[in-house]
Amino acid sequence: MKQTICIIGGGASGMAAAIAAKSANPVCQVFILEKQARVGKKILATGNGRCNIGNKGASVDHYYDHVGRNPQLVQTVLQAYSAASNVDFFASFGLMVREEEQGKQYPFSNQAASVLDLLRLKLASLQVMIQTDTTVVDIILQEKGFLVRTNRENYRCDKLILACGGVASPQLSNSLGIRKITDRLGLPSTKTFPALVQLKLDSSLPKALKGQKIEAVVGLWQNDQLLRQEKGEVLFTEYGISGPPVFQLSHLVGRNFAGNSIPQQVILDLLPMYQEQDIFLLLQKARQSIAGNLENFLLGLLPKRLGQQLLKICEMGYLSRLIVDLSDQELQRIAEKSKRLALPVSGTTGWQNAQVMAGGLKNDSFCPQTLEAKRLPGFFACGEILDVYGDCGGYNLTWAWSSGRLAGTCAAGGKYA
Ligand SMILES: Cc1cc2nc3c(=O)[nH]c(=O)nc-3n(C[C@H](O)[C@H](O)[C@H](O)COP(=O)(O)OP(=O)(O)OC[C@H]3O[C@@H](n4cnc5c(N)ncnc54)[C@H](O)[C@@H]3O)c2cc1C
Repeated sequence: MKQTICIIGGGASGMAAAIAAKSANPVCQVFILEKQARVGKKILATGNGRCNIGNKGASVDHYYDHVGRNPQLVQTVLQAYSAASNVDFFASFGLMVREEEQGKQYPFSNQAASVLDLLRLKLASLQVMIQTDTTVVDIILQEKGFLVRTNRENYRCDKLILACGGVASPQLSNSLGIRKITDRLGLPSTKTFPALVQLKLDSSLPKALKGQKIEAVVGLWQNDQLLRQEKGEVLFTEYGISGPPVFQLSHLVGRNFAGNSIPQQVILDLLPMYQEQDIFLLLQKARQSIAGNLENFLLGLLPKRLGQQLLKICEMGYLSRLIVDLSDQELQRIAEKSKRLALPVSGTTGWQNAQVMAGGLKNDSFCPQTLEAKRLPGFFACGEILDVYGDCGGYNLTWAWSSGRLAGTCAAGGKYA
C-alpha cells in the first residue's frame, strides 16, 4: 500500500514539505488540507508584495524562542537545509532568486505572485492533491496513522505534518483552534505574543508626525538598560512608530507585555550621522545664517514637521520667536534631544498587524533531526507553529522553507541531503 502523508496548512512550510516529501519518495501520496479558498495567501503579502524569500545569512543567531534564546532546533534544521540549499530548492521548480543588501533574497521577478505560481505548478506536476476551504477540526490517533477531521470530510493518513502557521495577521492566515487539538494530543505549547509589529507609544508626538519617515537609530530601554538598538527608516503612525528597525525590536516589547509589563521606552537618535557636539555647532551656524522665526530653524537638518515638534518638546516657546534670540544653552538642549528623544512604550499594535507569532509548540517535544514528535511517531511539525521566530529580513521564510523541507523529507522516509 502506498504511504499517505497529510499536510495541514498550505502556506510556505506546508508547500515546501509537500514538494520535499514527493521528491524524496515519489510513490507516496501527499495531500494538503487548507482552510482558505487558496493556498499561499500570506506569501502574496510578504516583502510588500515582493516576497523577501530568505536571507543568505540565516544562522541561529537570528532566531528566538518565546523566552528569547537562540533555539537549538534551528541550528540543527539549518545545518540540514541552509538558506543556500533553499536557493537550489527554488531553482528545482524554476524560481530564480537574487540577493540585495544585508543578504536579503528576493525572486528575480520581484513579485511574490510568481513565487506562489511556481510553487503551485510544482505541486501540480508532482500530483500533490490540494483541498482548499477545508478546516481541520480534530486529529484522532489511530492504531496505525491518524484520522483527520475537517469541516467537510474525514481523511486517513499514515503520516501527518502540521504546517498551520500562527495567529499573526489573521486576515491572511490563522491557526485558531489548533492549539486545543495539539494540547489534547499531549503536545504542549508555550506562551505566544505578536512579533515583527509596530510599537505603540504613550506620546502625542506620533500622531502629530503621522506619515513622516526618517532615518534614525531606535534604542529600546528597560530599567536603564539598552535591550537592543537598530538603525533604519522609521515611520511615525497614528499611535506610535513602525519600520524595519522598529520591527526588529518589537518582540522584546511583545514578550514584556505578555509577562511582567516592566516600563520600557524607546530613545530615538534623529541625526545618527552627527555627534551631539557637531549638531550644536551646526545649530550655531544656522542661528547666524537662517533669518526669521523658529518655524524654519531646523529645516536644514530635519523634515519640517519633525523639526517643529522637536522645538516644542525642547520648550523653545512660540514658533513666532526669532531665531537670533536662541541662547547657546537652548541650542545645546535641542542638540541633546535630537540625539536622545525618549518616548514611553505602551505596547505593540497586536496580532492584527504582526508579521509573525512568537512562541508555539514546545521545541523539545520534537526531534531536531527530523521534526517528528518524540511522543507521537508519524506526527511532524514545521514553520511558525513551532516555538521559533526570526528577525525581519527573510529569516522567517527561510525557517518555513527549511523546516518544511526537513519535515517533508523525513515524513516520506527520505534522508536529507
Ligand atoms: C504581511 C506579512 C509580510 C511578511 N513578509 C515576510 C517577508 O518578506 N519575509 C519573511 O521571511 N517573512 C515574512 N513574513 C512572515 C512569513 O510570511 C511567515 O513566517 C511564513 O509565511 C510562515 O509560514 P507557515 O507555513 O509556517 O505559515 P503560514 O504561511 O501562515 O501558512 C499556514 C497555513 O495553514 C492554514 N491553516 C491554519 N489552520 C488551519 C486548519 N485548522 N486547517 C487547515 N488549514 C489551516 C492557513 O490558512 C495557512 O494557509 C511576513 C508575514 C506577514 C503577515
